[in-house]
Amino acid sequence: MHDQYPKLLEPLDLGFTQLKNRVLMGSMHTGLEEAKGGFEKLAAFYAERAKGDVGLIVTGGISPGFVGRLSPFASQLSSKRHLKKHQLITSAVHDNGGKICLQILHAGRYAYHPFAVSPSRIKSPISPFKPWQLTRSGIRRTIKAFVKTAVLAQQAGYDGVEVMGSEGYLINQFISLHTNHRSDEWGGSIENRFRFAHEIITGIREQVGKDWILMYRLSMLDLLNDGSNWEDVVYQAKQAESAGATLINTGIGWHEVRIPTIAASVPRAAFTWVTKRLVDSITIPLITSNRINTPEVAESVLSNGDADMISMARPFLADADFVLKAQKNESSSINTCIACNQACLDNVFKGKRATCMVNPRACYETELVIEPAEKIKTVVIVGLGPAGLACAKTAAERGHRVIAYDAHDLGGQLNLARKVPGKEEFNETLRYYRHYFYQYDIELHLNHRVTAEELNNDEYDVIVIATGVTPRMPHIVGIEHEKVLSYIDVISGEKTVGNKVAIVGAGGIGFDVAEYLLNDEADGSQNVDAWLKDWSIDRNYDSRGGLLNDKKTNLTGSKRKMYLLQRKDEKLGMRLGKTTGWIHRMVLKNHDVEMIEGVSYQKIDDDGLRIIRHGETRMLAVDNVIICAGQKSNSELYDALKNSDKEKYLIGGAYKAAELDAVAAIRQGVELAAKL
Ligand code: FAD
Ligand code: NAP
Ligand code: SF4
Repeated sequence: MHDQYPKLLEPLDLGFTQLKNRVLMGSMHTGLEEAKGGFEKLAAFYAERAKGDVGLIVTGGISPGFVGRLSPFASQLSSKRHLKKHQLITSAVHDNGGKICLQILHAGRYAYHPFAVSPSRIKSPISPFKPWQLTRSGIRRTIKAFVKTAVLAQQAGYDGVEVMGSEGYLINQFISLHTNHRSDEWGGSIENRFRFAHEIITGIREQVGKDWILMYRLSMLDLLNDGSNWEDVVYQAKQAESAGATLINTGIGWHEVRIPTIAASVPRAAFTWVTKRLVDSITIPLITSNRINTPEVAESVLSNGDADMISMARPFLADADFVLKAQKNESSSINTCIACNQACLDNVFKGKRATCMVNPRACYETELVIEPAEKIKTVVIVGLGPAGLACAKTAAERGHRVIAYDAHDLGGQLNLARKVPGKEEFNETLRYYRHYFYQYDIELHLNHRVTAEELNNDEYDVIVIATGVTPRMPHIVGIEHEKVLSYIDVISGEKTVGNKVAIVGAGGIGFDVAEYLLNDEADGSQNVDAWLKDWSIDRNYDSRGGLLNDKKTNLTGSKRKMYLLQRKDEKLGMRLGKTTGWIHRMVLKNHDVEMIEGVSYQKIDDDGLRIIRHGETRMLAVDNVIICAGQKSNSELYDALKNSDKEKYLIGGAYKAAELDAVAAIRQGVELAAKL
């Protein structure tokens, strides 16, 4: 019996096999599935998580055939010649005491190629390709393909499969009236719409025997007009059980829906009320998911009876040892997923390999190796923003003696970021580093601005300068006016902000400042009910898709008149993360923030800010002008060391301010420490 997380760490008996605990590592596409030599790297990735004692792992989605691929080069498992690479994964996981299921995912109309198919010929808003309508024989062939893939998965040594029935992929397209307009036996009633899923589950169960895991991922809340109603959901769950499913996993929201479901602004465990409604309707274990990122939250969800098991995906990018640390009652040492999507999902959307902001080793297990140092050195690190923190922690982990300084508190710009609504999870990142600074006995000096003279010390073998960035002040006439504030003045709360403001610069920080000013009187707590209402989600599930009848968001109005400005003549926020940029734009738009592109700044004076746009002058009568015009490197200390012959390095924003973010800062810190 584990003291702190008895429910989470309790084994789950499936009759023919037992899972070590109630933790499922949910499916994540990493990009390695398609990369040359990717399966070797995937094997190492999953092996670390298996070693970390996660109860059950699910792979990224693998297509049962060519047309079901998400993109033309996506991975499929449809013939014996694909088995060998999958066996790399299954043996690596089994050698480390884990269990793993293959997720079978048919993209349907979400496929990004001209061969896409769907129950009806209705284009999705997120793929340019209009799908072909599956014929009745095409449907039969597709069911057989699912079954064949499951059989191959069994031959490859997987412990089971997860059949992807949610998130708007093919099976979900059959189930929903939104995408299924058929009048044959595959459309119309819920019995007909679920027939496709039902035949896949029964077909697989018949072929793989009874003692093999068959998980069905069910869309519990489509968040879509014409999506499932509650009766449909219960029907699907019962049918999946009677067709032979061992476990039911939860999916929330279709990919095309403009409602956040996993972003940082979604409160933790915001959707477990949905699984709670279902848990007593079936006898097989039910798994809940979405924005559960700590053992404490997971335990309370299980104690509340919301589900039998917890699925966490991104938290296992952030920390392979999540479960091990929970077992040792050391949750303060967990590197918590902050739900930023910046290095995982956003990378995948850019065709890059997924990794993790807070753990750059994720999906680079064989390449970024942290080993004990061959020669112990004294490493002094100046600046404890994310670059310095990551470098200090990793250097100390390798056995080096680390002395760390910051002119203020530990965290650098993350101390501002964590005050932005929806970015409170950065507090966890700082908690994690504090834990390891203490554990590794790092000599910590805060509120100490280091000078070049101090670094001229024979004790130091290596000097790392991670002194970060300072805000750039653009050359605008009147920039020294008292109504001009920096984003630091605003977010730190040091200066009072008036009711009419213009924000100069619409990068990540410009957007953050606007959101901060929309909420600067909020107490920072995350109220699930209020959040659901804001996004028009119906907790009573009275209508199809689980949306409130008016379906408009309740994100409206603002006590301030705000202008968000940029010089580039393109839509604001275009360069924000693919998976979260739209949320920031939508929130500001609905709160009537006026977003203006293509401006040039003429003058700031007592009247406000004068801009020119497309040849026309406009006076924005504002009380304050807040400058969010990017950063410049703080590299003076490094420059002052140029004549020193000590081993020295410059990292993070101090090295390069352009395009720097916390992802790059942390990666640079870890990469440097790995080779010191
Ligand atoms: P910094 O964070 O600037 O840290 C440098 C540190 O060095 C500071 O603590 C400073 O006190 C210290 N220092 C400087 N000189 C000395 C000296 N002489 N002696 C001792 N100490 C010294 N990035 C993202 O990726 N995602 C986000 O969501 C995100 N949100 C943000 C929100 C806001 C409001 C802000 C301001 C930034 C955000 N960022 C975000 C950017 C991210 O925080 C920065 O890119 C990152 O902090 C830069 O890391 P760094 O370690 O290089 O420098
Ligand atoms: P940024 O993204 O580079 O944006 C800077 C903004 O300032 C741009 O809108 C730019 O637009 C404007 N600008 C640049 N030079 C200017 C000048 N001389 N005069 C007037 N305007 C100027 O930088 P940031 O917003 O400071 O963010 C810093 C880093 O933190 C970025 O890497 C960002 O990705 C990261 N961050 C990420 C998030 C996130 O949620 N992912 C949030 C915050 C920060 P124009 O040149 O068109 O005017
Ligand atoms: Fe979580 Fe961000 Fe890491 Fe993705 S990149 S796993 S969202 S911390």
